[in-house]
Amino acid sequence: RAKTHRQGMYCFYEPKMDHNEEMRLAMELDLRQALTKDQLEVFYQPIAEIASGKIISVEALLRWRHPVRGYISPAVFIPLAEEIGLITAIGEWVLRRACADAVQWPKTMSVSVNVSTIQLRDNSITAAVESALSCSGLEPSRLILELTESALVGDNEGAFTILTKLKRSGIGLALDDFGTGYSSLSYLRKFPFDKVKIDKSFIDELTGNADNLAIVEAIIRLCGILKMGTTAEGVETQDQLDLLKSIGCELVQGYLIGRPQPFNRGVDAWSLSER
Ligand code: C2E
Ligand code: MG
Ligand code: MG
Ligand code: MG
Repeated sequence: RAKTHRQGMYCFYEPKMDHNEEMRLAMELDLRQALTKDQLEVFYQPIAEIASGKIISVEALLRWRHPVRGYISPAVFIPLAEEIGLITAIGEWVLRRACADAVQWPKTMSVSVNVSTIQLRDNSITAAVESALSCSGLEPSRLILELTESALVGDNEGAFTILTKLKRSGIGLALDDFGTGYSSLSYLRKFPFDKVKIDKSFIDELTGNADNLAIVEAIIRLCGILKMGTTAEGVETQDQLDLLKSIGCELVQGYLIGRPQPFNRGVDAWSLSER
């Protein structure tokens, strides 16, 4: 069925090995046009403060609306965009879009934008942030960049210089997916992060696994001592939320609070206090 469409050549259900390369190539060609053809969209997922029950932030999550395949997950096309040198252009577009959308929300709300390690390495991120902020008029304090630990390894000093500069410009920094990568405690101390996002894999096992609970509790305490807030990712149940509250977690994000949704749906539907 896929072959009836010119752009549907890469069928994700095709088991043949040699088809993989063909599929990747076709996707690559399509992705190169996604920006100019206006196929990229930014969805927003709410982040709530446990203590107040208020939505204080949203995370910008990129979506590719493919004319044939429908929505394609960023987990699929971001690694490809990084590989073929498109991530910097795409990342700059996301930053501009997210800042332009965020100025239309209440001033109490900030927006988190995921940044690829490559945007840090190629030194484009500071200019991209400055331009997105000045074009939109968004206060720097309402922008948070999310980075994973992969951005911090290797050229450690280079990353340190850029992050310190970004921090001085007044924006916030969050360490994403904490616990899945190197989880180096020295990173927590060395780099100027405001928030640590505890990966969903820990939250999934929170209620059933005592070791997991102990780890999450220890991360929260450590972050507290280092004056950083903690966000739990992928919170899906009330039990998880109750447990996170009891161990002092500051912020929560997950389907329980709200799913990622297009900007035009607005932010009014989200509330933790009504739960
Ligand atoms: P992430 O930054 O860790 O984002 C959280 C992911 O978890 C999102 O997946 C979100 O939809 C999903 N999620 C949130 N709450 C729940 C929950 O309760 N249950 C479940 N099952 N999932 C939940 P998404 O949107 O597919 O994004 C995947 C990853 O793609 C992101 O992980 C991020 O690393 C990357 N990404 C997304 N947008 C961008 C972008 O603009 N630039 C870059 N460089 N990476 C992006
Ligand atoms: Mg993120
Ligand atoms: Mg994350
Ligand atoms: Mg994650």
